[in-house]
Amino acid sequence: MQVVLDRVAASLDRPFDYLVPPEFDRIGPGWRVAVPLGRTAATGLIVGWADPDAPTPAPLRPIVGPLGDEPLLLPDLVAVVRYLREEWCCWWGQAVRTSVPAPVRQQPVPPFEHLYASESAPRGPVRQRLWAFVREHPGAREADARSATGASAGVVSALLASGSLRRGPAPRVAPPGGSHVLNPAQAAAVAVLGRYLEEDRPSTVLLEGVTGSGKTEVYLAAVERVLAQGRQAVILVPEIALTPQMGARFRQRFPGRVAVFHSAMADGERVREWHRARRGEADVVLGPRSAIFAPCPRLGLVVLDEEHESTYKQEEHPRYHARDVAAERVRQTGGLLVLGSATPSLETAHAARQGRIGWVRLPERVAGRPLAAVQVVDLRAELEAGNYEMFSRTLATAVDETLGRGDQVLLLLNRRGFAKSVVCRTCGHTERCPDCSVSLTWHREDQRLWCHYCDYRRAVPRQCPACGSNRLRSFGVGTEQVLEAAAARWPGARIARADRDSLSRRGSHERLFRSFADRELDMLVGTQLLAKGMDWPHVTLVGIIAADLALSLPDFRAAERTYDLLTQAAGRAGRGESPGRVVVQTYNPEHYSVAAAALQDFQPFYEQEVGFREELGYPPFGHLLLVESSASSPEEARAPLDRLAAALGGHEDVTVRGPSAAPVDRVRTQHRCHLLIRGSDRAALVAVAHDVAAAYPGLSLTLDPYNFL
Ligand code: ADP
Ligand code: ZN
Ligand code: ZN
Repeated sequence: MQVVLDRVAASLDRPFDYLVPPEFDRIGPGWRVAVPLGRTAATGLIVGWADPDAPTPAPLRPIVGPLGDEPLLLPDLVAVVRYLREEWCCWWGQAVRTSVPAPVRQQPVPPFEHLYASESAPRGPVRQRLWAFVREHPGAREADARSATGASAGVVSALLASGSLRRGPAPRVAPPGGSHVLNPAQAAAVAVLGRYLEEDRPSTVLLEGVTGSGKTEVYLAAVERVLAQGRQAVILVPEIALTPQMGARFRQRFPGRVAVFHSAMADGERVREWHRARRGEADVVLGPRSAIFAPCPRLGLVVLDEEHESTYKQEEHPRYHARDVAAERVRQTGGLLVLGSATPSLETAHAARQGRIGWVRLPERVAGRPLAAVQVVDLRAELEAGNYEMFSRTLATAVDETLGRGDQVLLLLNRRGFAKSVVCRTCGHTERCPDCSVSLTWHREDQRLWCHYCDYRRAVPRQCPACGSNRLRSFGVGTEQVLEAAAARWPGARIARADRDSLSRRGSHERLFRSFADRELDMLVGTQLLAKGMDWPHVTLVGIIAADLALSLPDFRAAERTYDLLTQAAGRAGRGESPGRVVVQTYNPEHYSVAAAALQDFQPFYEQEVGFREELGYPPFGHLLLVESSASSPEEARAPLDRLAAALGGHEDVTVRGPSAAPVDRVRTQHRCHLLIRGSDRAALVAVAHDVAAAYPGLSLTLDPYNFL
């Protein structure tokens, strides 16, 4: 039997063969076991049968025994563990840790919390009271039954032992109804998804619906169908912050049947929710990225809401993308994967337009509500007119009017802006790499512009190469500065800041978002976090402080991210009865991502962007492998990458760019350097990744990277 140990170490990075004594012959893959390891004991997960033809160097040692009464993981999740290891090039231990949360591995299986009574009445007043209560309320939670009757835990145990009570799963509750009558576009989308669900073979469908088109309502209807088939659903949201809102909508529709998974939950609760899904008690699991590993025994549907979000990419090992893991899960179970977005990723949009996955659209907002009006303000003209403030006259007036009506305002700043670029304030030009077409990053120390993909460098020009102006500026403001400027400009307004730094404490976003929803605040200033999926009906104005911050990131997805940010921001405005308005400030009003977002039309953006991707071989026309190195000097960090680049020089399947210093080229005392490897065929690139991992254990590898900083 092949066992992966619960340890993450290079020397233990393989399945170990053990013998299973005949008394344990019912165990197999997916069981957790205790095994001997050297002179000590260890725990692990059985991932497969031993290869009978493999030579065994020494007689195999027997396992000590199984942990638990049944397999922890069913075969489809064991397959996913292997998939993580193979396709994302991580260690076995990392694959297991990711697939089964630590508290679930460490704590025993909790008993069912719900009680049912048998016919045999117990004796004694307290016992009878408890028994009668449970008879009257079949499926009552143990805690509720005890507090209603004053029975102790001992009384419960006694009745369980005598057979007067038994434990069981939560009772089924009829849904209260109250769903919207679907509009024709929604009904058509649900019908298409229903046909895929009938087919019982793995499939993927893009649900491309403008913001506010009622995608969530379509997910709810699809979940209803899959539950009617006796199967389960997993719903993924891009941020923990979105789980309460989405969770509330699903709980209301499917009372008692929803489990929520996320890493910020207390251990006990996590373990309980995990086993509710594993036992099939909860048949809808909802949560951020890691909920894709929900151990549902009859998985029939996975939904990725806002599938384009880069938060679906895990930054630590295994560096998987939840979209790909979801596709693997439905491949294992024959289910349906629904990818929902107003601004699909280029990868997904391309697959849909090529006919490789299904494609359904919701082209309009529900109830005939108009899309928000998007107005682009040219910051170059603003400077011409002598306004050097953070807020253009258009935006400032719009805020005045909105606050005057008693409506709410969001001010957004895209701030992954460690990497500064140089923008011409006269014409909006930014300098790009001639080969890679990503923005060049400004380095203060040597006053040069660098390409962080291929290491091209040049001096910062004195004059704008496009228009000759000498107003070239580096760019960088933070949410703190925007908050200060807004507080000074609108002293009467109640304003708060929301970004990852200010929201890192547990529960703080819930409190802040609730007080905004309750209109205790007039304005929120924050990062793109605020543009994601929230439903705030009284927000009628969204201001984007500088679209250029997103555009000038040294990342081939910069245009895609800009389009997403602007469109999602527009999606936050005017979700209630009153129409919404968006003001986008930029030095690049002509850029195709800004222009298409102003029209809120994905297709023209897609067509331009896909051409650019194809020309340079970026995804979806190829795959990337990012190799990172860090060391105490720049030379040391670079040396292994130089060797690797040379070694891959003649390789048929891949091409190499770099090495180059990383945009964030120093973290504390460590210097960072990276190398990009591109391959048209993912399997070939994965093979290269495994070879590199074996030959250069000190380098860090990311397949399909999303973060190039
Ligand atoms: P999306 O996920 O596409 O942004 P939602 O599903 O959140 O859109 O729907 C937007 C709003 O419209 C929600 O408040 C929702 O309750 C409402 N809604 C959805 N479908 C309908 C419908 N068929 N009729 C009326 N209101 C609807
Ligand atoms: Zn210029
Ligand atoms: Zn370059």
